[in-house]
Amino acid sequence: MHMGKKTGKTSTRGTRSSSTAGTSRTKKAPVKKVVPVRASRASAKRPLLTRAEETKLLGPKAFTESELRHFKEVIQQKRKETLEELDTLKESMMDVTTGEYVSESSNYSLHMEQGTDAMEREKTFLFVQRETNYLNQLDDALARIEGKTYGQCKVCGLLVPKERLGAVPTATTCAEYKNTNMPCERGRIALARKQQAK
Ligand SMILES: [Zn+2]
Repeated sequence: MHMGKKTGKTSTRGTRSSSTAGTSRTKKAPVKKVVPVRASRASAKRPLLTRAEETKLLGPKAFTESELRHFKEVIQQKRKETLEELDTLKESMMDVTTGEYVSESSNYSLHMEQGTDAMEREKTFLFVQRETNYLNQLDDALARIEGKTYGQCKVCGLLVPKERLGAVPTATTCAEYKNTNMPCERGRIALARKQQAK
């Protein structure tokens, strides 16, 4: 390697005076983690992690009661919001069918062409569908909380990370699977274990 002489102390090079260089040296260089090498016994068949390390990596199989309670509150709140939104949408749909517009949209509607009107109706209908879908997903999530299976990935069986569930409380798979259709690294370990257990 042509950079073999590099020591990592390049910052002390150049314009610094010797006195400041002296003080800067008191700063600890980043400590390299020493990873014990088990190469001698490693064969092709030997897994990279021990069973215990694997278990730790895979994490718990279910959330605790208090974690589930937290998720339940979050989902119930979302459910409430979704129901309110659905009510609003349905109201506006009803107004469309009776030809009567309410509040701020009333002036605008007078000048709307029929095509736009139909498009608005279609849009509202799609919104209702989407919100209804979401409502069902929220209800499913609540059922999983009751069954204490909430957060378990459908694909690998591991707990979906809390951060993901915080962002998407209705998630039923790890983000990686959702995005790539492939199980994540933890998931692959878990699936391999299941295979071995058979
Ligand atoms: Zn998964």
